[in-house]
Amino acid sequence: MQSIDPTTGRKIKTYREFSIKEVGCALDEAQSAFEDWRKLSLDRRAQKIRAVGTILRRNKNNYAKLMAMEMGKPIVQGQNEIDKCAWTCDFYAQEAKNYLAPVRIKTQASKSFVSFQPLGIILAVMPWNFPFWQVFRCAAPTLMAGNAVVLKHASNVCGCALVIEDIFKKAGLPAGLFKTLLVPSKKVERLIQHPLIQAVTLTGSTQAGQAIAAQAGAVIKKTVLELGGSDPYIILEDADLTKAVEACVASKLINGGQSCIAAKRFIVVNSRLKEFERLFVEKMRAVRMGSPLEEETTLGPLARHDLREALHNQVQKSIKKGARLLLGGEIPKGEGAFYPPTVLTNVRKYTPAYDEELFGPVAGIIGVSGQEEAIQVANDTMFGLGAALFTRDLKRAEYIATFQLQAGCCFVNDFVKSDPRLPFGGVKQSGYGRELSDFGIHEFVNVKTVYID
Ligand code: NAP
Repeated sequence: MQSIDPTTGRKIKTYREFSIKEVGCALDEAQSAFEDWRKLSLDRRAQKIRAVGTILRRNKNNYAKLMAMEMGKPIVQGQNEIDKCAWTCDFYAQEAKNYLAPVRIKTQASKSFVSFQPLGIILAVMPWNFPFWQVFRCAAPTLMAGNAVVLKHASNVCGCALVIEDIFKKAGLPAGLFKTLLVPSKKVERLIQHPLIQAVTLTGSTQAGQAIAAQAGAVIKKTVLELGGSDPYIILEDADLTKAVEACVASKLINGGQSCIAAKRFIVVNSRLKEFERLFVEKMRAVRMGSPLEEETTLGPLARHDLREALHNQVQKSIKKGARLLLGGEIPKGEGAFYPPTVLTNVRKYTPAYDEELFGPVAGIIGVSGQEEAIQVANDTMFGLGAALFTRDLKRAEYIATFQLQAGCCFVNDFVKSDPRLPFGGVKQSGYGRELSDFGIHEFVNVKTVYID
C-alpha cells in the first residue's frame, strides 16, 4: 500500500499490509478495550472524546499538511476539516448524554423503558476525499455510544489513517479501542465475517456499497452506507443570481469537486441561463490552481492520476454527445494530477455529465423550461444525496424541498453541507442510514426494551 503525492506523482511511503494474525490480534484487543469502555460513564467517555478534539486543534497544521501531501487537499481547506472534526468531538461529548438517555414508555408494567446499549466493534470503511472528517463523523458518535471502532481507510491515505489512530491513543482511550487496520479492499469481506465485528459503516462508491451490503447481508450484520451523489442545484427564474452563483461555485470546488455533496448538475431555467453561464464561468475562471501547500491555492490536484483520467474521459464523452465546453476541459502539461475548472453546458440525458457522478472540478449546466421540468430533471438520477434550490419565494422553496426533491437533504439559497447537529445521508443509490445528529448515534446501538412487571 502506497502514499503517492498527487502534486508531484512521487511516492511518499510504502506501508506493509497487516497479516491475518495481526488483524486477529487487533480485533481481540479492540474487544477487550470495548469491555472496559462500555462500563465507563458517559461523562468519563466525554472527557476522553473532548481530549481528542483538543489534540486535533493543537496539531491542525500538521494534519492539514499530511492531507495536502497524500491526497492534494488545499491546506486551508484541510485546516477547516480538522476544526470540524474537533467541533464534532465536542458536540457529541456534550450531547451524547441527551441522545442516549433511557426513554420511559408508559405500559401496564410497573416500569418499561428503552435503553441504548453499545454493540461492540464497528468496522468503518472510509474514502480518501475527507481523510479525517469521514472518520471522525462516524467515530465520535459511535465511540460515545460505547462501541469500539476499527478503521479500514482508503489505500492512498495510510499516513492519515495511522495518525488518526495515534490521536485516539494520545487522548487516553483504552488501548486498541480505535484501531487502524492496513488491509486492501479485497480483505474486507473476511473482516465482515469475523465474529467480533458487529456492524459495518461504509462511505464510498455505490459499487463498494453493493459489495459490502451483500457481504454483510450474508452474515446478517447491519450496514450504514454513505455512497455517491449527483446533487442537483436548481436556479429558478426569481433567484438572486449573484448569491446563487457564489454558492454554486463554492460547492463545486470544495475539495476540488471530489465530494459526495459537491454540486454536480446545475439546472437553470432558460430565462436566466445565459446570465448564469456568464457569471458562473467568470467565477470558475478566477480559481487559483496550484500546490495544495500554498495558502492562496483554492484548487489542488486531484487525489490520484487514474481519477483524473477517468474524469477527463467523462468530459470527452459528454462533449462527443452534444455538451458544449465553456471553460477548461484540457489536461494541463507538467507533473501532478491537476485538472482545470471545467464548465459544460447543453448537458443532455444519456451523457456522463447528466447520468454519472463527476468527481472533480467539472460543472454540467442543464437548461430547463421552468420549475416543473427542473424538478423532473433534478430527480432523474439514480442518486439522492443532497439538493439545493435558489429562489426568492421561500414558501414555494419549502414545499419543493420538503415534498418534491428526492434527496437526503435539501438546502434553500445555500449550498449543501454536513453539520454535526443535522442528520446526513441519502436515498436511492446514495445509500441508507444516517450519520451525525441524534440519528447518527442511534445507528450502532441496541435499541433495547426493558419491561418490569
Ligand atoms: P471507493 O473506491 O468505494 O473506496 C471507499 C473505501 O471503500 C476505500 O476504503 C476502499 O478501499 C473501499 N472499497 C472499495 N471497493 C471495495 C469493495 N469492493 N469491498 C470493500 N471495500 C471496498 O470510493 P472512493 O473512490 O475512495 O470515494 C469516492 C466515492 O465515495 C464517491 O462516489 C463519493 O461520492 C463517495 N462518498 C460518499 C460520501 C457520503 O457521505 N455519501 C462521502 C464521501 C465520498 P481501497 O482504497 O483499498 O480500494
